[in-house]
Amino acid sequence: MYWRYTLRQKLPQKEPGWLPGSMRGAILYSPGDVRVQERPDPRIEQPTDAIIRVSAACVCGSDLWPYRGIQPVHQPSPMGHEYVGVVEEVGGDVKNLTKGQFVVGSFWASDNTCENCRAGYQSACLHRVGMGSLGSQAEYLRVPLADGTLVATPEMPPADLIPSYLAASDVLGTGWFAAVAAEAGPGKTVAVVGDGAVGLLGVLAARQLGAERIIAMSRHADRQKLALEFGATDIVTERGDEGIARIKEMTGGIGAHSVIEAVGTQESMMQAIRSTRPGGNVGFVGVSHDVSLDGMDLFWSLVKLQGGPAPVRRFLPHLMDLIGNRVIEPGKVFDLDLPLERAAEGYQAMDERRAVKALLRP
Ligand SMILES: [Zn+2]
Repeated sequence: MYWRYTLRQKLPQKEPGWLPGSMRGAILYSPGDVRVQERPDPRIEQPTDAIIRVSAACVCGSDLWPYRGIQPVHQPSPMGHEYVGVVEEVGGDVKNLTKGQFVVGSFWASDNTCENCRAGYQSACLHRVGMGSLGSQAEYLRVPLADGTLVATPEMPPADLIPSYLAASDVLGTGWFAAVAAEAGPGKTVAVVGDGAVGLLGVLAARQLGAERIIAMSRHADRQKLALEFGATDIVTERGDEGIARIKEMTGGIGAHSVIEAVGTQESMMQAIRSTRPGGNVGFVGVSHDVSLDGMDLFWSLVKLQGGPAPVRRFLPHLMDLIGNRVIEPGKVFDLDLPLERAAEGYQAMDERRAVKALLRP
């Protein structure tokens, strides 16, 4: 242990992931090059921190942006912002958590006490810390603002619930926020643009929120099947102008009440806005890349838009109850389950769309 101790003492405060260390974790070196290697063990840096032993992490659709080189990779970076795990150690100011508890947190660490947090916008917490910079695709993870960020289960969950709790960390919470932002609910027709994990869980959320009709837009048989399992009532395979025309045709010529946008491209955003009826709502949660909106298009659309990084923490306690009571099974979105050491295969499979979402087990 001595060498581990001395090694840690030499490390700078802000952990560069490529330094040698003593736990295993995924590092993105350059587009297409993910390696699992030694990383420094995280340690308590602030009294509000907790260290968790990661039970499961996963690859996010948004991890594919740097992996594909669409978002630049300036230096080797620790990867991963979704996680569930067991509390290993807490800082001196942490009041609500104890060693041994199973916890779920979101991709923004948040204090859950500032004005934005109290308003339900924890992803805009005045003290937020992005978990992606800490890298959850690893054996251990430092979680800042632990009392505000982490939600514990009443007891250690059975192994089969772990994927569903992990989904709550991001994709379920994000799909849920999109459905809430789109005002999905009883009597509403909801259209979902995007058949990745977030879009599919947007379908599940719309079903739980009581939507009457849920149209999943997908041209992949396996994803259509999952959408139907999650509660979709209709499938539309057309996209772009044809997709918009098809949604209008199905809604008396006027469009859906609620549209979830879960891709983040120009085409998907316009498909969402134009598929929405006047007075309807678009919830957009696909991380926007090179999207520009024409003012006149917006002016004439008469739609309401809300989107951005989902305040997953707002929904976590409710979603964790639904999972614990086996009301929902969002973990079905994981169709690839790999040991952490094979993280690169998970990225590759998602990049090539052979997998919806890859779970990584340290
Ligand atoms: Zn806050």
